[in-house]
Amino acid sequence: MTTNASSSPSQAKTGKVYLVGAGPGDPGLITLRGKYLLEHAEVVVYDYLANPKLLGYVPKDAQLVYAGKKGGGLHAFTQEGINRLLVDYAGQGKMVVRLKGGDPFIFGRGAEEIEELVAAGIDFEVVPGVTSATAAATYAGIPITHRGYTASVAFVTGHEDPAKESSNIAWDKLATGAGTIVIYMGIKTLPTITRKLIEHGRSPDTPTAVVRWASTPQQRSVVGTLATICEVVRQADIKPPALIIVGEVVKLRSTIDWFEKRPLFGRRIVVTRTREQASDLVARLEEQGAEVLEYATIHIEPMDDYRICDAAIAELGSYQWLLFTSINAVSHFFRRLFALGHDSRLLAGLRIAAVGRATADELGRYGLKADLMPDTFTGQGLAEALLQTGMRGSRVLLPRALRASDTLPEMLADAGAQVTIAPVYRNVPPAGPREELRDQLLTGSIDAVTFTSSSTVTNFLSLIDPADADELHRLLDRTTIAAIGPITAGAIREHGLPVDIQPERYTIDDLVRAIVAHYRNRPIQAG
Ligand code: SAH
Repeated sequence: MTTNASSSPSQAKTGKVYLVGAGPGDPGLITLRGKYLLEHAEVVVYDYLANPKLLGYVPKDAQLVYAGKKGGGLHAFTQEGINRLLVDYAGQGKMVVRLKGGDPFIFGRGAEEIEELVAAGIDFEVVPGVTSATAAATYAGIPITHRGYTASVAFVTGHEDPAKESSNIAWDKLATGAGTIVIYMGIKTLPTITRKLIEHGRSPDTPTAVVRWASTPQQRSVVGTLATICEVVRQADIKPPALIIVGEVVKLRSTIDWFEKRPLFGRRIVVTRTREQASDLVARLEEQGAEVLEYATIHIEPMDDYRICDAAIAELGSYQWLLFTSINAVSHFFRRLFALGHDSRLLAGLRIAAVGRATADELGRYGLKADLMPDTFTGQGLAEALLQTGMRGSRVLLPRALRASDTLPEMLADAGAQVTIAPVYRNVPPAGPREELRDQLLTGSIDAVTFTSSSTVTNFLSLIDPADADELHRLLDRTTIAAIGPITAGAIREHGLPVDIQPERYTIDDLVRAIVAHYRNRPIQAG
């Protein structure tokens, strides 16, 4: 142990190992302490059951080591190998997070790892996690205790073959001794477990549930009785990782089940937006229960050359209008303005127009209010609104993406305005995980693809890179296509693809509502 009273890992001179419970699957269920430690880790050794999304908290230069371990599958490391790894990294003075599924001390072999650390004289800390038993119960709508049904619960491992003579588990006492029995790692031995429990006096009619991948979008639950659950699990083809919950409380699922009842539960939806802007749509879809696959179809990059923008900024006083058609245009324009040593006061006297609420909100972050916002959130809508104010002879500055639609500047120029198009950022399609996306589209495992601008359409299509129109149809025939508004829908139809979902108003909220409405009363395809 350090004698230093501070608990800040960054101050530790010698290495230390933090055994951190990652929680059951939903990355939101890690503790604040666990997240803090991930954010400060130099090495993270993580398990198969720890959600890889949590690795997003780890600093970019940290080392990530997959320790594997999957019931019955290939182990990336033996337990001894993992123990040695922890000792080695900490011995090099590193701040090591050992990230383990659920809670490190519940069937997590956390203690064995610590024994090795102690033997090697290495400092450690343990951070508990939400164990999968409580998560599975909660997310399947089963309270593991309930005054009316049971006052006791037992956590049991099914890893050990119950038929074995020398079993450490007193199945005879457990069968009737605990009100609720939760069994970890018991799918393979389920037939023996249920037989033992019945043999030792538990009623064959005891309600029993099996929950797989609890708290994740892949969660699946099935319910039966001690007598029938094996057949139910076989029919539903439930594989590990799953938990078995035995007891009268399982009955309450019929009233309490909430997680699997959310409107988009079981739907896999692709969000095609820029990294920077996707989170709003992603969060709202996830809130409704969807599994969201984020594909960054656009990567925003700064310009190599700002000459046009700089020249316009130098004579900003001679302009009457400054137009913004996207959040990125606002943020990149100001980035440049500030880089040149100016501040927002330089805009005094200019009239500002913005397309869309999000763009106007972005302006608000710079202390500015749009003088004009068109009712129709498109470049054309803005042009029409501006034309009503009379544009002849006006100087207009339009900071925007290098490549974008020319409808707005052309309409203004036709009406006699002098328009300066100042590119302030570039949209580039990233070299994405193309193969994976194509496979998922081909096998029909993606329910819907969402598009929130015409450039997301172009970039999504370049991401899947369809060789010909037939191939494009093969890829997207089984997928529902959602577009935020008419321009985006038009861009989709230009490629001969149908638009299945389109809200009346072009906002993220309305898009999500339209997707929910689309899936209401549509059964989820098995598989
Ligand atoms: N330390 C972990 C348990 C590790 S043992 C914890 O506290 O949860 C591995 C077993 O945990 C799996 O075989 C399975 O029975 C159970 N398990 C872990 N995560 C699970 C999940 N998300 N859904 C269902 N079971 C899970």
